[in-house]
Amino acid sequence: MTSDLRSIAGRTALVTGAASGIGRATARLFAGEGARVAVVDLDAGEIDIVVSGIDEAGGTASGYVLDVSDPDAIEGVVEQIVADLGPIDILINNAGRGGGASIDSPEFEDVWSAAFAVNLTAQARLVRAALPHLERNRDGRVVNIASTEGLGATPGMAAYTASKHGVIGLTKSLAVELGSRGVNVNCICPGPINTGMTSAIREDHKAIFARRRVPLARYGEPEELAHGVLHLALPASSYINGAVLRVDGGMLAKNA
Ligand code: NAD
Repeated sequence: MTSDLRSIAGRTALVTGAASGIGRATARLFAGEGARVAVVDLDAGEIDIVVSGIDEAGGTASGYVLDVSDPDAIEGVVEQIVADLGPIDILINNAGRGGGASIDSPEFEDVWSAAFAVNLTAQARLVRAALPHLERNRDGRVVNIASTEGLGATPGMAAYTASKHGVIGLTKSLAVELGSRGVNVNCICPGPINTGMTSAIREDHKAIFARRRVPLARYGEPEELAHGVLHLALPASSYINGAVLRVDGGMLAKNA
């Protein structure tokens, strides 16, 4: 296996939710590895900061404001990315939102709809929009970000948990459907990671949780997730398809 198969240099990668946390770390890592990166997010100001940082570090990135739950906007943004950076080789479906609401709470319906729109339906739509590009060289890569909530459950999180179980189902379905068309589809289940999504949790509460539940006894950092994403995006990972990779410090391996 030659070293260029262990490189994403020259490839075009679309990363959603790339203005913060895991997506931002992935965008920076991919650009550092020589990929052309489309930084896609809701947050225009943070997108600019990420793109400027990549430019200053000598990488190539462009920013795109997109609400991934807006079905009318996705195709136009994908077309613009292709015009700016070239056909998409790698799609990282990372944008996500929480979905905490107990089943009998008044806000449950709204939380459920929003969680499914952003965490699950958008992933399918982005694959549909990027598919002609992903399959053109028979070495496309899709990495969907699920969660350990895709494999187990926490009380009061039905919307988030069900949507993340759906991400695993979507990943397996598309791996089976698209494998013969030259597109490998895999997903990652992060455990507890220090990002925007967990920033409201008190540090002492994080530490107690991590000591009790995580064999590595700490939260993970977004960069540690990004390296897992990179692994699945490499040309060398050509026989990994339909995989569900836990990056959780061993959390779900632990019984007691
Ligand atoms: P984060 O809040 O730091 O980043 C999420 C990013 O997604 C933000 O920049 C936000 O603006 C963007 N986003 C949200 N809704 C969007 C939309 N509709 N359109 C476009 N962009 C949107 O959180 P994070 O932890 O980096 O989350 C990344 C992914 O990791 C999510 O799918 C999340 O569910 C998953 N995850 C996170 C953890 C964790 O502990 N942090 C654990 C398991 C899974």
